[in-house]
Amino acid sequence: MRLRKKPWIGEALDQFNDILVREHEDKDCRGRWRQRFAAAGPLHVEVGTGKGSFITEMAARHPDILFIGIEGQQDVIYQAVKRAAEQKLVNLRLLLADVGRLTEFFAPGEMDRLFINFCDPWPKVRHAKRRLTHARFLARYREVLAAQGDIWFKTDNRPLFDFSLEEFAANGLELVKVSYDLHSEDWQDNVMTEYERKFSALGTPINRCEARFAK
Ligand code: SAM
Repeated sequence: MRLRKKPWIGEALDQFNDILVREHEDKDCRGRWRQRFAAAGPLHVEVGTGKGSFITEMAARHPDILFIGIEGQQDVIYQAVKRAAEQKLVNLRLLLADVGRLTEFFAPGEMDRLFINFCDPWPKVRHAKRRLTHARFLARYREVLAAQGDIWFKTDNRPLFDFSLEEFAANGLELVKVSYDLHSEDWQDNVMTEYERKFSALGTPINRCEARFAK
């Protein structure tokens, strides 16, 4: 997702220090997310959260779960932070950071669920390492997920989905559910992301899976 650089956004983000967690706060949060934000229940994290419509809707629907959305671009996270602030959600925080640094922010086993929604497909083979479902990211997810933790993944991109299912299997993840056309199933609990709305409006089938690391 590319937006024109807006130099004022760094300062504008300062108004939202109660919602936004920045990279230098890694030591304050690691292993202490629940403590720091007075939450006792599960911790669910979305990587590459974009403008935040999925994570804010999830937080509104599930007040007993602490949600963290991670986004690497400050111009993009600004939209998510504003949305969260408007809804006055106390169980949602947004983390401005690169997902590659996940283990600096989360302690082993701290996370109960990880969402990967419509991550950039990086279609060229030489860029495969940048895909958020590449083995290099899966190793980090394995470290921060609890023993019963799982990954929920959605994408419109079939080649990326096929690559990801193979990558999951090769890295010790068991598939719990797989769908190649999510919207043809009557699943009331599905919360659509921005990209999901865009692609489903074009008639593109949405792929989804749930996966868990085998013990
Ligand atoms: N999840 C949203 C959705 O489904 O509408 C946004 C999808 S958009 C294609 C992917 C988002 O992931 C972008 O906002 C991008 O900045 C972010 N992203 C990609 N790689 C990232 C990384 N390594 N660390 C943090 N954010 C990343």
